[in-house]
Amino acid sequence: MSIISNHLPTDELQALDAAHHLHPFSENEALGKKGARVITRAKGVYLTDSEGHEILDAMAGLWCVNIGYGREEMSQVAARQMLELPYYNTFFQTTHVPVIALAAKLAELAPGDLNHVFFAGSGSEANDTNLRMVRTYWAQKGQPEKSHVISRKNAYHGSSVGSGSLGGMTYMHEQGGMPIPGIHHIAQPDWWAEGGDQTPEDFGLACARELETKILELGADKVAAFIGEPVQGAGGVVVPPSTYWPEIQRICKKHDVLLIADEVICGFGRTGNMFGSQTFGISPDIMTIAKGLSSGYAPIGGSIVSDEVASVISACEFNHGYTYSGHPVCAAVALENLRIIEEENIIDHVRNVAAPALKAAFEALEEHPLVGTINMSGLMASIQLAPIKGSRAPFAGEQGAVGYICRENCFAQNLVMRHVGDRMIVSPPLVITPAEIEVLATRAKAALDATYAELQ
Ligand code: PLP
Repeated sequence: MSIISNHLPTDELQALDAAHHLHPFSENEALGKKGARVITRAKGVYLTDSEGHEILDAMAGLWCVNIGYGREEMSQVAARQMLELPYYNTFFQTTHVPVIALAAKLAELAPGDLNHVFFAGSGSEANDTNLRMVRTYWAQKGQPEKSHVISRKNAYHGSSVGSGSLGGMTYMHEQGGMPIPGIHHIAQPDWWAEGGDQTPEDFGLACARELETKILELGADKVAAFIGEPVQGAGGVVVPPSTYWPEIQRICKKHDVLLIADEVICGFGRTGNMFGSQTFGISPDIMTIAKGLSSGYAPIGGSIVSDEVASVISACEFNHGYTYSGHPVCAAVALENLRIIEEENIIDHVRNVAAPALKAAFEALEEHPLVGTINMSGLMASIQLAPIKGSRAPFAGEQGAVGYICRENCFAQNLVMRHVGDRMIVSPPLVITPAEIEVLATRAKAALDATYAELQ
């Protein structure tokens, strides 16, 4: 076999890819015919593909490359750490400097008394940890029956059996026997799609009160925790009405139910604060972190837990952990990422420069005949496509078909935007400049125009 490198022609790379690589969340047979896009390098907010296209990545990979691509400091830290201590585990009363430093830094950054970190390799693993941790917590307190977890429909919490069950994606549940028992899903606070004639505020309250109804139905002595993303990302950037989170918080407190905020997307600046919980006034007992923790430069996730949860868990041997829990290279890379976020005031940039620029650019798009509304929190946004201006009615036919066309038209414009149903998602690197946002919006408008023309 010839040496496989960037220098091979695209069709050869695509053929090898189709022959041997099974892609996540892809129809692999179709990819075999069409050929996957081959990304060869990236810098700042731009990707380069094997054909030399410069593609604006409005998704920051998978909502994760917060500091942008190609930061040399990150590679230097990784190389240094690989030479000094490439691997050691954190099992059996052992530790190392990068993991100590990262845990201490996260305790400093996290709100309230979230002072303790259990590390994982990804967001999925971290949510599996959370499931086992909350059950262990209540068992330790003499309430092993308090083991059920409540989540939302259309939530995304990962792709392992545990985290996929916590998620509320029916198309995932249809494969592989999910959800596992003991996990329940209530309504999502998506006013556009499901709010009917209610005001957003009333609808937010009604959705939150479904939690209380479910707790009472199961019995408060059976419910361990509620899990939710401050803003549902993969569900379509569902920004909840202002009434939603305060009511959820009140209900969790009243019924002694632990609150898990899944910050895998919202964490590390995405919503204009370090954590989405701060943006929405949530005081969780546990936060799930991953993605922006290392800006995707190395696979790492974790659970940041309160003093109370940590003290209960620490009193037993928690029989759980991953070979890569607190991996030294990933921890060092994450720490460098956090240094860059802080020292370059990236969160101020999101709040005062980039998010206002994106808002202004997208407000102009609201006039477009295909645009129903724009959902936005900080630098995560979705453009809701709609067939009738001024109405929240969906497109006739298969949901997502128009979104798919629009996504393809984005690619044709050298713009990566993802579609969730008929919503076009934007979650760029947090370092994106106003000039780059102009380019993003111009390309998005061209894709919307092309999609609109195709539908006529
Ligand atoms: N939680 C949320 C909110 C996510 O968006 C994701 C991934 O998109 C996950 C958990 C799972 O993270 P990972 O893909 O790192 O396992």
